[in-house]
Amino acid sequence: MADAFDFDLFVIGGGSGGVRAARVAAGEYGVKVGLAEDDRYGGTCVIRGCVPKKLMVFASEYAGMPAEAASYGWDVQGGAFDWNRFRGKLQAELDRLEGVYRNLLAGSGVETFDLRATVKDAHTVALADGTTKTAKHILIATGGYPVRPDMQNAELGIVSDDIFHLEELPKSILIIGGGYIACEFACILNGLGVEVTQYYRGAQILRGFDDEARGLVSESMSQSGVDLHLGTNIIELSQGENGINVKSTNGNERSFDQVMFATGRDPASRNMGLEDVGVRLGRKGQIEVNEYSQTEVPSIYAIGDVTDRVNLTPVAIREGMAFVETVFGGRPTPVDHDLIASAVFTQPEMGTVGLSEEEASEKEEVEIYATSFKPMQTSFAEKPDRVLMKLVVSKATRKVLGCHIVAPNAGELIQMVGIAVKAGLTKEQFDATCAVHPTMSEELVTMRKSVRSA
Ligand code: NDP
Repeated sequence: MADAFDFDLFVIGGGSGGVRAARVAAGEYGVKVGLAEDDRYGGTCVIRGCVPKKLMVFASEYAGMPAEAASYGWDVQGGAFDWNRFRGKLQAELDRLEGVYRNLLAGSGVETFDLRATVKDAHTVALADGTTKTAKHILIATGGYPVRPDMQNAELGIVSDDIFHLEELPKSILIIGGGYIACEFACILNGLGVEVTQYYRGAQILRGFDDEARGLVSESMSQSGVDLHLGTNIIELSQGENGINVKSTNGNERSFDQVMFATGRDPASRNMGLEDVGVRLGRKGQIEVNEYSQTEVPSIYAIGDVTDRVNLTPVAIREGMAFVETVFGGRPTPVDHDLIASAVFTQPEMGTVGLSEEEASEKEEVEIYATSFKPMQTSFAEKPDRVLMKLVVSKATRKVLGCHIVAPNAGELIQMVGIAVKAGLTKEQFDATCAVHPTMSEELVTMRKSVRSA
């Protein structure tokens, strides 16, 4: 079908979104697809994000298990964590997964180029080996990258990409930021035995999430040993004899083995020739697209983090699928970005879908149903852990507008609640569901009285 072009579709970027779009277009619609990737296949999620991060979460969670098991009568001893043993296994797993991605592409008939690609014109891609490829459609799926603040000696600090390759775990680390990545790695490294200090410039971590939920995460992180300083930022970094010296806004001057910036990610759109061909970029460098992921240049589309819409792997995959449906399936399919459930893999985890209490109460009158309690499993082990189950309910329609869970495995729980919230179910329909007992999440269907109106 490739007309006068070398390809029907040329994808730049072999991460979750790009690979999905390429293999579905080639495998299910039989179109001729090329894909260029200048790093490892699998992208941020598989190689330097969600997957290795989650494996590190698992590794770190074992730290508290011997003591907990002892409370249940087991005679077990904790031991030291061997970073090198874990890291070797982790890298082998990532190699395996990268192989899976490569095989998926090859199996669907996608031609791959292990090269950097830039856009030369509306239908031409230039590869780093000097060759060019023409395509009827070009899809940019280059993702994003972690950014350091603009300050002197910022290169002394590492970013999340570097964590998985450390030769050894530092004895102490300062993490800067209060978003997903800062909080997740603060918990992971704390669990692995690193002395973790976290500076966040705002009043409370995880800005944008439900206040009550982030308050509990923050409290639990401090309780489990993260030295969290709110309203604090760094002013100066310098290399000292025994580590990195850090001056901060709270007047402290301290030294850390390592400093990690988790201060946000930017779209990977620069130096790709995009603006020269008429693709519009936003202030952060995000590619501006319409609801069909189409740019100002009709033959060029963009999906995933490079568009800075909702920067989550499953969203990039959905955007890739919608693009293929629209362009090759003949069914114009806008991407639905409403009510996306997500989890922050802190310890305890936070799972969230829909509006926070603060967001909802700005729009309409709401009733809040919430309960915070010590869960059975850790309470028996005499641990202070608390969980939170919270529903934000519209007074007018009784629809559940938001659900916020802070609890072990909240990510798994919120996936299920996400279906009900997405389906627009009411509080009464939640209540009509018989509880599963004894569980933590049974509270979601047994909270009879609202704790407040907002
Ligand atoms: P976020 O945007 O979530 O957080 C960045 C943090 O850095 C904020 O706390 C911000 O503060 C702070 N910050 C920004 N600039 C500075 C500065 N100059 N000095 C000090 N602090 C600064 O970015 P992340 O890097 O944590 O994550 C990027 C995205 O990746 C997330 O938004 C999410 O979409 C995705 N992600 C999802 C995960 C999941 O689903 N579990 C896990 C990891 C990432 P302030 O709040 O004041 O702006």
